[in-house]
Amino acid sequence: MTQTDDKPAVQITSLNKWYGAFHVLKEVNLTIPSGSRFVICGPSGSGKSTLIRCLNGLEAYQQGTVTLGTIRLGDNARETALARRQTGMVFQSFNLFPHLTVLSNCTLALRRVPSMPRKEAESLARHFLEKVRIPEQADKYPAQLSGGQQQRVAIARALCMNPRLMLFDEPTSALDPEMVKEVLDVMTGLAHDGMTMICVTHEMGFAREVADQVVFMDQGSIVEQASPSAFFATPNHPRARSFLNTLL
Ligand code: ADP
Ligand code: MG
Repeated sequence: MTQTDDKPAVQITSLNKWYGAFHVLKEVNLTIPSGSRFVICGPSGSGKSTLIRCLNGLEAYQQGTVTLGTIRLGDNARETALARRQTGMVFQSFNLFPHLTVLSNCTLALRRVPSMPRKEAESLARHFLEKVRIPEQADKYPAQLSGGQQQRVAIARALCMNPRLMLFDEPTSALDPEMVKEVLDVMTGLAHDGMTMICVTHEMGFAREVADQVVFMDQGSIVEQASPSAFFATPNHPRARSFLNTLL
């Protein structure tokens, strides 16, 4: 997405989505300035994953607009595809290809559209494997890696595409506790590099340290948005208060 500084990285206006008769996203409005870090939290089933998936074209929606930089999704197929390529996505389940090495997992998309020569793609992939601190794992297969290492491969793979925006959907929820930190450390590093990030996570330490804004969702709506200090000190909405209590 060609992005000028005055355009937010993400602008969501009056987004509504239904699964059949079920109203899953209700009048969602959200503006994410370029270079900012947003954490989205809320109870299970509140629509966090659905919202994230609407941002990279994985989900259709019935009403509203999603604009990434200068590209409004759905207006133009070529531009929408470009916006998707420039949006990195990291899921709870790592979604690596089991039959490909770590290096090939990272280079696969680079070798397609637009196609990059193998040597160049591999050198880029090795650079990002270094960045997520697993350069020595390049020739292994995902099953030979720990969960934390696999998730870091997933992050490196996304970074290879030179994303303007990184979306994380509970990237540490499937990890054993001792591996959570190594993934959060990589994410914190990305934030310090100035990456625009939207992270669905219940890691409130990460939210406190890294987020510019915390967004709280409940039953398909954004019911609160605040700086981490304000959100943790005095959550306004009763459901946000009770949600925070469940995390303590
Ligand atoms: P969260 O990520 O906050 O846990 P989700 O976005 O996954 O919430 O889901 C929001 C609601 O939409 C849930 O009630 C879920 O059961 C429902 N839902 C999610 N995906 C589908 C689907 N493909 N079809 C029907 N309902 C769905
Ligand atoms: Mg979810």
